[in-house]
Amino acid sequence: MATSRADKVGSLLFCPDCGTLLALPKDGETVVVCEQCAYEEPATSYENVSITTRSAPEAFPSALRQKRKTQTKHHETGDQGTLVSEKCPACGHLQAYSKEMQLRSADEGSTVFYTCASCKHGWRVNN
Ligand SMILES: [Zn+2]
Ligand SMILES: [Zn+2]
Repeated sequence: MATSRADKVGSLLFCPDCGTLLALPKDGETVVVCEQCAYEEPATSYENVSITTRSAPEAFPSALRQKRKTQTKHHETGDQGTLVSEKCPACGHLQAYSKEMQLRSADEGSTVFYTCASCKHGWRVNN
């Protein structure tokens, strides 16, 4: 069983033989091998130091989350909405553009807005 001889500076460990910064142990590894002189430092030496580099990978998911937020859900149709078979209450035309909107919270249902394809009359239906 190897004993810890590495020089600890903050959360970093340095090789006691050549002074090289030792890498963090990978999962399942029991020793960290110095890249320069092959000195072996037990991975347990890292258990008592705070590993500051752990916060770094978390920066990536937040960046992804931000990216996802900006990608707003959009329908393939334009601003008018989807052309559906719906009878206009004003002129009796049988096609209207429909747009579904989540007005309040998700559990309060949604409202579908219709715009007549003929006379542009607008009305809405609560689901
Ligand atoms: Zn070394
Ligand atoms: Zn109409």
